[in-house]
Formats: sequence, C-alpha cells, structure tokens
Amino acid sequence: MKIARFSHDGAINFGILDETDLVVLAADPMFGGFETTGERVPLADAVLLAPVIPRSKVVCVGKNYADHVKEMGGDEPPAEPLLFLKPNTSVIGPNDRIVLPALSERIEHEGELAVVIGSVARNVRPEDAESVIFGYTIGNDVTARDLQKKDGQWTRAKGFDTFCPLGPVIETEFSFEGATIETRVNGDIRQQAPLSDMIHSVADIIAYASAVFTLLPGDVILTGTPAGVGPIVSGDTVEVAVSGLGILRNTAA
Ligand code: MG
Repeated sequence: MKIARFSHDGAINFGILDETDLVVLAADPMFGGFETTGERVPLADAVLLAPVIPRSKVVCVGKNYADHVKEMGGDEPPAEPLLFLKPNTSVIGPNDRIVLPALSERIEHEGELAVVIGSVARNVRPEDAESVIFGYTIGNDVTARDLQKKDGQWTRAKGFDTFCPLGPVIETEFSFEGATIETRVNGDIRQQAPLSDMIHSVADIIAYASAVFTLLPGDVILTGTPAGVGPIVSGDTVEVAVSGLGILRNTAA
C-alpha cells in the first residue's frame, strides 16, 4: 500500500494511492488506521507533501556502502553503523525546493533509502525490527561537503533547512528483492547501486540505534548513500529513484 500526505482544496490529508487517485483516509494511518472517508482525489489535483514529518529526529547512517567509503578517501567501512542526526526542520516534500545556503560553496546530493518507524522502539532485537517499521520511502541526505570537512562533525553540514527531502509516498509492503537505488541530476545518472550493497542491514541499524535512543513513530532512518555523490548548483533537479517506491524529485535554488 502506498500512503501519501497531500494538500487539496486547502486541506491536508493522508491517502492511499490507487493508480491515478488518492483514496482519502480519515486520519494519519500511523495512529488512526486505514479507515477511508469514501472521498477520492485525482492525484493530478493534489500537491504531495513530505509523507511523514518526523516527531523527533531523522537518524542517518554514514558510510554504509563500501564504494562510497572509498570515494570519500576511506579504506575500511566502519565495523558498526556510523550514526548522526538531522533535525526534523530539515525535512521537505517532493518537488519542494532545496535551498542552497550562502554559508556553503559545495552542496552535494546523497540519494538514500528511508525507513519510517511506526511504533515506539527501544532496545529492539534485529529479528524484531520488522515490527517497528511502518514503511519505506526515499530520502536525499543533502550535505554541505565543505562544512562537513571544516567542522569535523556533521551537524551543520547535514542540518540546514530543506536538506532532507522525503517522499513521494510511504510503501508499507516494500520488497528488497532485486531493488536498486539511482540518483540522477538533470537526467544524468550519478549514483546507482543495488540495495543489497548496504553494509549494515535495516534490522541491524534499528537494533543499533534503538540501543542508544528511543525511536518514536514517525521518526525516519536514512540508510546511507552509494558511490557517486556530487555537487548540485542552483537550477539543478535531483531525482532519487528506488524500485517500487517511485521517484523523489527536487530542484535546488
Ligand atoms: Mg548520507
């Protein structure tokens, strides 16, 4: 099931994507179930919004694809997931503008698979991780690469407003089987990898992160980016595509 959050006629609602329509839900399905109102809105008439606004945090994993570790000048990927956070104020939706901050001269895209947490999760075992996942969507871990190097830690480089595009929808029945991720800038392929290239699995990341802090419903985990990160400049359109999840498209300005 593909869940969208959208605005239409001045109202914000959740809906289930049914081909070219959105079947309107009575409530946020994460908390209120999947009861529908009976109303249908043509997808073409709706503005899709970020499918989730994280309650507390976006948890990110750095260096989770071996080829990306190499391109960043590293030798060995970290033995454990390398965690950092993005503030929920960095989240934007599909087609929203990535605002390039004047404080940086080198902004880069990082296309990533995003996990949406569906229930309170603390000390989750890897074998139980599935039970705390609401669904999957696509993320772009936009990064001010110059500030990341300069600061020595990543809060500023990863945390600007608009630096966490999410969407277009949440898939509640995502299959990893044969799934790939691809990032394009103005149509040119920059990143392309099978999701099976991830070093630390989603289950292991949830176990590792939930041993540190409680994950809340609506929190999002970005699972790391494959090789091919590169700059974006004003006017560039970034598309991140994941098999079965659609395309997350944003233009930088
Ligand atoms: Mg990243």
